Amino acid sequence: TRIENSSFGKEFMNNLINRNPGEVEFHQAVHEVTESLLDFIEDNPKYKNAKILERMSEAERIIIFRVPWVDDKGNIQVNRGYRVEMNSAIGPYKGGLRFHPTVNLGILKFLAFEQVFKNSLTTLPMGGGKGGSDFDPKQKTDGEVMRFCQSFMTELSKHIGPNTDVPAGDIGVGGREIGFLFGQYKRLRNEFTGVLTGKGREWGGSLIRPEATGYGNVYFAEEMLKTQNDNFKGKIVSISGSGNVAQFTAEKIIELGGKVVTLSDSSGFIYDADGIDEEKLKFVMRLKNIKRGRIEEYAKKFGVEYHPNERPWKIKCDVALPSATQNEINKEEAELLIKNGCICVSEGANMPSTPEAIEVYLKNKILFGPGKAANAGGVSVSGLEMSQNSLRLSWTREEVDAQLKRIMQDIHTTCVKYGKNKDGFVNYMDGANIGGFVKVAEAMLAQGLV
Ligand code: GLU
Repeated sequence: TRIENSSFGKEFMNNLINRNPGEVEFHQAVHEVTESLLDFIEDNPKYKNAKILERMSEAERIIIFRVPWVDDKGNIQVNRGYRVEMNSAIGPYKGGLRFHPTVNLGILKFLAFEQVFKNSLTTLPMGGGKGGSDFDPKQKTDGEVMRFCQSFMTELSKHIGPNTDVPAGDIGVGGREIGFLFGQYKRLRNEFTGVLTGKGREWGGSLIRPEATGYGNVYFAEEMLKTQNDNFKGKIVSISGSGNVAQFTAEKIIELGGKVVTLSDSSGFIYDADGIDEEKLKFVMRLKNIKRGRIEEYAKKFGVEYHPNERPWKIKCDVALPSATQNEINKEEAELLIKNGCICVSEGANMPSTPEAIEVYLKNKILFGPGKAANAGGVSVSGLEMSQNSLRLSWTREEVDAQLKRIMQDIHTTCVKYGKNKDGFVNYMDGANIGGFVKVAEAMLAQGLV
């Protein structure tokens, strides 16, 4: 690897690991970015001299707090809350909140670090942050989720604001949670502001925000296919996950004439060889968003295969769109995908491919869209929600969708600009990492030692 051949790279990664012990996902995210950036930083000593990479991998501020709440039985519960304010060089901190039992500081630092590059790529003025809690919303009642959210926001409200730090949703935080969080912020501060994005459309939310991550990933993949004079018509598409991102990814693929054959959750995946059509997708949306049920119900309802405790990557597909969580495709699964004819992997989730899986994609020169580019549509429309809140007006579906599409095309152009090799192959990972870096690095240089 490039890092192993560079004394600067080796020393930087050793220091990072020593300073952040045990935070393996954070190490992984920084390692990937450093691999892409090394040559570029060697060619541009100003970044190296100003220790830009060292500064970008140290959060500007981290808040960790107690979240006490009372469950329906009257028992006191205690969770841990976090907000990682990673980088504000190009705008207020911006990034989601994740509520999931696996949440810890290392995972949020990886997500916040990725978010800085992603937000920079969107072309909008947003810094990067991420937060959340080890709270598990599964099996909780609406009342429990509300009391948790109110307690979480009671502390978080002291650290955020529409010009300071603007959280949104992520895994485990959807429209319901954003509503409870917003209500509590408004009550505590007596301010109706755009302090959160992903709001309901009646109270300051943007149209297309729910669809944005999924649609955006499909728009990005479409741009990649276009470079090979190809498109989604007739393509067999494998999607993992069944939450917000997966649902709207499937919706857009169906609209473009592709055939979606899989969806999953943490218990297993369904394989529908006939393809998930609009009607079946409506069932999934009702099942997940209203009944909060498991994807296994799909297999029972439509009589298709259910594979418990497995991931969908052994199913033959042309395009794979991982839309569940980090490290959900390993080396063997990447090899299996390619053996079965997969020509494109575009990441709806954050860091769903392990470093070894990415190596397999690059070696085989398939189209690989890394999450920080491919899934930037979500935070892009969050940025557009902030603009609309500031203007105190709201744009139509068509307007927002057109802006989203334009932004995804711009991100693709940036990736090609910085990622094209001499032989014409586009390494989108290098392109996204370098393209995201330059804007933030230049802003940091201009703003002095901060
Ligand atoms: N959680 C999403 C992401 O990973 C969206 C963040 C936002 O809208 O601020 O980019």
